[in-house]
Amino acid sequence: DVPGADTTLADLPLRDDLRGRSPYGAPQLDVSVRLNTNENPYPPPQELVDDVTAAVQEAATALHRYPDRDAKALRADLAAYLTKATGVALVTENVWAANGSNEVLQQILQAFGGPGRTALGFEPSYSMHPILSAGTRTDWVPAPRRDDFSLDGAQAARIVAEKQPGVVFVTSPNNPTGQSVSQDDLRAVLAAAPGIVVVDEAYAEFSGRPSAIELIREYPAKVIVSRTMSKAFAFAGGRLGYLAAAPAMIDALLLVRLPYHLSVVTQAAARAVLRHAKATLGSVQALIDERERVVEALREQGFSPVPSDANFVLFGRFADAHRAWQRYLDADVLIRDVGIPGHLRVTIGTPEENDAFLAASKVVSEEI
Ligand code: PMP
Repeated sequence: DVPGADTTLADLPLRDDLRGRSPYGAPQLDVSVRLNTNENPYPPPQELVDDVTAAVQEAATALHRYPDRDAKALRADLAAYLTKATGVALVTENVWAANGSNEVLQQILQAFGGPGRTALGFEPSYSMHPILSAGTRTDWVPAPRRDDFSLDGAQAARIVAEKQPGVVFVTSPNNPTGQSVSQDDLRAVLAAAPGIVVVDEAYAEFSGRPSAIELIREYPAKVIVSRTMSKAFAFAGGRLGYLAAAPAMIDALLLVRLPYHLSVVTQAAARAVLRHAKATLGSVQALIDERERVVEALREQGFSPVPSDANFVLFGRFADAHRAWQRYLDADVLIRDVGIPGHLRVTIGTPEENDAFLAASKVVSEEI
């Protein structure tokens, strides 16, 4: 007898534009092989767990006080990491952080999107971009990719010039298809864009391509590069996303962020994890090698995997992708039906998990 259980969503004075929508979310199922949300499959090593514990223990002595609202120490650490990773010398003022890059993206839309403005993305891409746009009342404008899912830079620039969106999302490497966007194609989009271009680099560490961070100096009033500690940094549970941009962009985001949005605990834990960046990111090469092994094996089984720069692979073709997804699940392997006809997406796991996935694939390939 749950209080209020007789009231349904239809009874609530919900915004009209949210009626009938579904919440984002991949199934969180209890199966042995979970390859559906692009996490790093390697749990944190004991030294890192100990360091996070010690850092949080120390932070706990100040839990009666609000955290540093501007997370300056954490942003300085992130700036140092990005400087090392990209060769572009960034400082604290170039970096902003929030609870996952989803929150970073939402703040960008709160500041630069909103009623009367549009956001444009090249589909298929990360499905939270249109959902965050809807939540901030930013009209979503879908634009196409080539049939092989790569981005046609010239066509993208033409569409941006025609639609004049306030915000453009370019995901590189793209989720769920895996390919990166070249610096030339990005420049074409940036040159055409009247507003902000968000380059979502959630999977950048898995790609050998140069980062759009190199373009901040050239397009300071346009480019924002978002990143996350959820993937390569193996910190999905910690919730820490960040961005690099010109300092004025961060001044804009300060207008919409919630005060004290990053808890004392989050800031301390993320800083401890960053101190172990070298060890954690050591898993990246192993995951890239496994990705190539999985792609090759899928090809041998008769599938068509899309070349990937990330820690996941989109592959097909299935007559009925959802039925195939269920067959994997029956084999205790959870992968992702991203809604692209004929295709499924698999996250690269440990060698054992990938073997289990490939064994299931063999069975599925013989059925279809
Ligand atoms: N961008 C892309 C392209 C993603 O795939 C994801 C995670 N699925 C995110 C952003 C958000 O991740 P998080 O909020 O964990 O940083």
